[in-house]
Amino acid sequence: MIADHPATLSGWGLFNPAQCRLAGPRSLLELTDWLNAPRNGHVIARGLGRSYGDAAVNENHAVADLSALTRVISFDAQTGVLHAEAGLSLLQIIREYLPRGWFPPVTPGTQYVTLGGCVAADVHGKNHHADGSFFAFVDELELWTPARGVLRCSRASEPGLFRASFGGMGLTGVILTVKLRLRRVESAWILGGARRLRDIHHAMDVLDADASPYSVAWIDCQAAGKSAGRSVLLTGQHASAEACRAARKDVFESPAREPVGIPFTGPSWLLNKFTVTLFNTAYYSLQRETENGLQHFAPFFYPLDGVRDWNRLYGKRGFLQYQTVFPGETARAAMPGLIDRLAHSGRASFLAVLKRFGPGNDSPLSFPFAGYTLALDIPAAPGVEDFFRELDDWTLRHGGRVYLAKDSLLPPQSFRAMYPRVEEFQDIRRLVDPRGMLSSSLSRRVGLG
Ligand SMILES: Cc1cc2nc3c(=O)[nH]c(=O)nc-3n(C[C@H](O)[C@H](O)[C@H](O)COP(=O)(O)OP(=O)(O)OC[C@H]3O[C@@H](n4cnc5c(N)ncnc54)[C@H](O)[C@@H]3O)c2cc1C
Repeated sequence: MIADHPATLSGWGLFNPAQCRLAGPRSLLELTDWLNAPRNGHVIARGLGRSYGDAAVNENHAVADLSALTRVISFDAQTGVLHAEAGLSLLQIIREYLPRGWFPPVTPGTQYVTLGGCVAADVHGKNHHADGSFFAFVDELELWTPARGVLRCSRASEPGLFRASFGGMGLTGVILTVKLRLRRVESAWILGGARRLRDIHHAMDVLDADASPYSVAWIDCQAAGKSAGRSVLLTGQHASAEACRAARKDVFESPAREPVGIPFTGPSWLLNKFTVTLFNTAYYSLQRETENGLQHFAPFFYPLDGVRDWNRLYGKRGFLQYQTVFPGETARAAMPGLIDRLAHSGRASFLAVLKRFGPGNDSPLSFPFAGYTLALDIPAAPGVEDFFRELDDWTLRHGGRVYLAKDSLLPPQSFRAMYPRVEEFQDIRRLVDPRGMLSSSLSRRVGLG
């Protein structure tokens, strides 16, 4: 049987690294043997560690790294249904299946995520308003559970456990395999446009009216007063092969180059209010407005993947993300207030992203619901905990909630108020894990045990 070893782990934000015991199985058999071995402590699964906080961290307990479990079990070239081990990444899926005309139906802003991580966080993309979250495209999961062994679950079999696993942050079981329906596409290109929007109200109005399958607004959070929330809106759809050929593009062109790396961890002052303001002002002012231009899928979906380890630019203390969603009814009051709080806090958000969400699904801890979501990256400077409490209060007051895959600080009482179906989730969990073997630093912090 494989052995685990001590390792210091953190999330993508590099905030609060913790001592864990890490196991790296090379096969499903090695993984299940290791999971079935008697142990006293807790266990949580980890994919590529792209959740920002402590969701895939288990201080003083065990972490199963599934990133080597990337075997494709089957692929149906008629329906696009891919059955694969949960460690397979979206990057690997795109490399293999895009040249054959298939693309992930929902993708977060990085390809360096595993199928298991996408299910556990029930990830959303720039098309949530049109297509929903990852849940909508998954037909079946194989789940290892402490009390009932390996279970096959779907909408027809073990439906409660199936649903709870989306957004369940690894607490309903270790996902072994996933059956995902890929999307048929004609090219590797996106037909879309860019448009400057003068403030947050303008941004929400335009997002509301826009019919593109993919849309996102990059907000300049340093702009204050009348320009607060000014942004650049990017919209798009998968381009037809004909449009690519007309523009003399290689229809399934692969990304031009490997990402450049950051060779060292930056000093903590690198991303300060001054440099961030400079970057945001330049990004807003230099953005060319376009309509119906062709852009390769990689910079459109994954602009940050162009720089490997960009998280190290934040320095040793790391950074945190605050992603919140507000319902449509309160968003117009809540968003300007949130941006205003950030502007007056003296803190800089290098990246701020606004998206529209369509209706949520029936998974008790799935994050998205109809409204608008804003994500802010904030350096881990002194006082950040108090600032996040202030943002939590604002979020709660406007009926919003925080995304667990991005979270590092949410306290239990706020978590419960934001996720009213916690007890339903816990009831499902108790059926498969009555002793609470599956637990992470995040689950203990937010009071999920
Ligand atoms: C640059 C960037 C952009 C992002 N953009 C978006 C976005 O647009 N939309 C969005 O929704 N998210 C976004 N994210 C967050 C990311 O998609 C999620 O955190 C995702 O869960 C990360 O996948 P991972 O494989 O790295 O999982 P990890 O970070 O390793 O783990 C995340 C959670 O999944 C659980 N998990 C992982 N594998 C398994 C498994 N096999 N079985 C059971 N549980 C498992 C872990 O226990 C943990 O709770 C972004 C992250 C980054 C770094």
